[in-house]
Amino acid sequence: MRILLTNDDGYHAPGMAVLEAMARQLSDDIWVCAPAEEQSGAGHSLTLSHPVRIRRHGERRWSCTGTPTDSVMMAIGRLMPEPPDLILSGVNRGANLGDDITYSGTVSAAIEGALAGVRAIALSQVYAREGMGDNVPFGAAEAWGVRVLRPLLDMETPPRTLINVNFPAIPAEEVKGIRVTRQGFHDYGRGSIVEGVDPRGYPYFWFGLHGIEHSLGHDSDLEAIDDGYISVTPLQLDLTHDASLAALRGVYAG
Ligand code: MN
Repeated sequence: MRILLTNDDGYHAPGMAVLEAMARQLSDDIWVCAPAEEQSGAGHSLTLSHPVRIRRHGERRWSCTGTPTDSVMMAIGRLMPEPPDLILSGVNRGANLGDDITYSGTVSAAIEGALAGVRAIALSQVYAREGMGDNVPFGAAEAWGVRVLRPLLDMETPPRTLINVNFPAIPAEEVKGIRVTRQGFHDYGRGSIVEGVDPRGYPYFWFGLHGIEHSLGHDSDLEAIDDGYISVTPLQLDLTHDASLAALRGVYAG
């Protein structure tokens, strides 16, 4: 099984090493292509206005100056002789839950895999405190990762779908188990804009992160993490809101 690894926190991110250790328990045919710099919050963006450059770090290992989506596109379209059987994206430093997943470079790299017809799984480690930098504890992901992944590999994957996995912010031995969930939603406005002044005297603004404040929808990814479970959510690329189709057609029928 040929596995492509990527990580929106960057080629050198700690979560990349966690993911590679996990993947090597599943296969020895491992390929890596990840953004050279952190791309968290890049969503599904594709670099169009300037070139992307590739740096080779060893056999089957590259970084890419672009986004997570660029990395997957380059790997499949150019760097790998054949497409992978599986794309693993992560392990992200921080949650990718509820509405937030549309901002996520981690989930978007998996989306790019799903678009290319490759089985794709995004993995994220939730953590409790802000400001931990490279010291985010990945213990839950390290201990449970392969247990979560193995059954997914035996499942048939419908086209244009992917799996979003989040590990809770608790020590591995306190994890209660694995829960299959649906995508939840947050109910706060998107505030937390930090204002400052740069060394040259110009004001700047910096988007901060919220703690998890949310509505605990039943069976949601957010609720599972809150309850101490690993959340496994099947996602689809079709964003159509079926329930509105008839009403909207009615609006234009007159
Ligand atoms: Mn990230």
